Amino acid sequence: MLRKLVNQADVEMTLRPVEPLLIASGVPNAAGIDLPFVLTYRRGDDAGEPYLPGSSLKGVLRSHAERISRTMAPKARVCDPHLGTRNGAQEASAIGVPFCGKRLRARKGEDRRQESHDLYRESCPICRTFGSTVYRGRLAFGDAYLRDGEAHRIERRDGVGIDRFSGGASHQVKFELEVLTQGAFRARVRLENFEDWQLGLLALLCRDLEDEMISVGHGTTRGLGRLKGTVERLDVMYIVPPKTRQLDDARVHGVGSLLEEGERRPYGFMSDDHFRLNRAPAVKPQGVRRVQSFADEEVRRAFFDDAVARWSERMDNWMKS
Ligand SMILES: [Zn+2]
Repeated sequence: MLRKLVNQADVEMTLRPVEPLLIASGVPNAAGIDLPFVLTYRRGDDAGEPYLPGSSLKGVLRSHAERISRTMAPKARVCDPHLGTRNGAQEASAIGVPFCGKRLRARKGEDRRQESHDLYRESCPICRTFGSTVYRGRLAFGDAYLRDGEAHRIERRDGVGIDRFSGGASHQVKFELEVLTQGAFRARVRLENFEDWQLGLLALLCRDLEDEMISVGHGTTRGLGRLKGTVERLDVMYIVPPKTRQLDDARVHGVGSLLEEGERRPYGFMSDDHFRLNRAPAVKPQGVRRVQSFADEEVRRAFFDDAVARWSERMDNWMKS
């Protein structure tokens, strides 16, 4: 892991269910519900309140990012964490790239001193961003809690014959579950020491959440769990002493462009790790930081377009770099 923080992107979104949402707690509750909605007791009261665990959000967004990449950026050859774990019939037809965690762990066995920069450099774009079993990743998700002052509703449903793991119809066993049908959650995503194309990946995910294309929780193939995202805040921040480096306000600067050659090379960062903004908000000093806020919706959309274009270009040339 790079020992210093040179840039960071923060996104805050409101997530609302547009379909009933089921993120089940692992254990039946005292009221006899087999699949109760997961609760947090962060306020210290007994009732608890529903929330969206950051790990659940990270999981679905990772899968979505993999799918987007395989479709729109096949040259980047993102890995498949489930390759080799499916049953035979599915596996035989799969043309996939082995999981970076598995591939790099084997290598790690040969050389226990493998450094994190090597693991980063040799990981696929998705593992560089989301992490793997050998690398922590650059993207962090907080748990999403209810927004203050917004109503929420949990309803009890009969779940007849859905198997909780496979999702297949089974047993005609009747059990009760809880779905969340109304609520507004504040989700936060942070990307540290980003490369320019990683903002494009983040932009694609934000756009697909805005377009209601991402579902979370149980039963997503049967019409549960679709979310509507609204971006509330998007900030890009730099921690680079102004004396040592001028920053062009009209560009977004990836980590590679903010380091010296000797620091950059071990990670495989590019020296031209930056892209031009068609609409650039002012960069404002905040103590030792410089922050560029994409608050205006039109400006944010232009930013998403610029970032996605950069991602696309980088993915097309991934294996060459
Ligand atoms: Zn990978």
